[in-house]
Amino acid sequence: IRQKFIVGNWKMHTTSFEAQQLAKGIVDGLAAPDHVTVVLCPPFPYLPIVGDMLRGSRVALGAQNVYPETEGAFTGEVSPNMLLDLDCKYVIVGHSERRHKLGESEAFINRKVKCALDSGLDVILCVGETLEQRQGGRTEAVLDHQLSTGLDGVSSDMLSHLSVAYEPVWAIGNDEHHATPQQAHDTHVLIRRKLTQILGATWSEELSVHYGGSVEPGNAAAFLGQDGIDGVLIGGASLKADEFLAIVNAGI
Ligand code: 13P
Repeated sequence: IRQKFIVGNWKMHTTSFEAQQLAKGIVDGLAAPDHVTVVLCPPFPYLPIVGDMLRGSRVALGAQNVYPETEGAFTGEVSPNMLLDLDCKYVIVGHSERRHKLGESEAFINRKVKCALDSGLDVILCVGETLEQRQGGRTEAVLDHQLSTGLDGVSSDMLSHLSVAYEPVWAIGNDEHHATPQQAHDTHVLIRRKLTQILGATWSEELSVHYGGSVEPGNAAAFLGQDGIDGVLIGGASLKADEFLAIVNAGI
């Protein structure tokens, strides 16, 4: 049985006080069994505050981004070692907002995946097509390309520290377009098929593939109940402890 993952991606939200309160609310209210992994990814400046709240709890700390070098003259960037130093276990790489709003290339994302894994972080690699790509019938080709370039050169002994998140760009934070659980399931089948091509059947079976895009308490169970969806990445609904906890409970 693959672990169920529930990941809160707070994006560029919260003040330090709100971050602390949110983490506290989640830790205090959590009643998840061991096969559910819960991860909170606050903004960089709040990693220590949230890390303090999570210490001794079952909730793991994650970062939303990382720079693919151990140290050096990279003004404004944060290295894998710095994240590890703050007790981060996970890092999100290749989020669509970084691909599309910050212009991150496939090659850069691949460097991040490899550097973060080599440094000892667990990587959540995000992939997903835009609305235009989906409507143009290019979903599979886009995902194939993102997966093969993102995972290029990743050695098999690192794969136990990797998971993939399917986040269709058109369904993120979007009130108009929601992916249905069936659409998410169908695309997860494509992703798993591609992972089998890249990694072989044994590794592909081991790898968790999550879904992200407007997951909320009302639809979380439907996504998490799909065969092949191993977890969810939550943006908006991760900013309220009660909503986030309701989603965790949906995954149990
Ligand atoms: P929303 O849940 O706000 O759609 O965001 C999803 C996401 O981007 C998680 O990484």
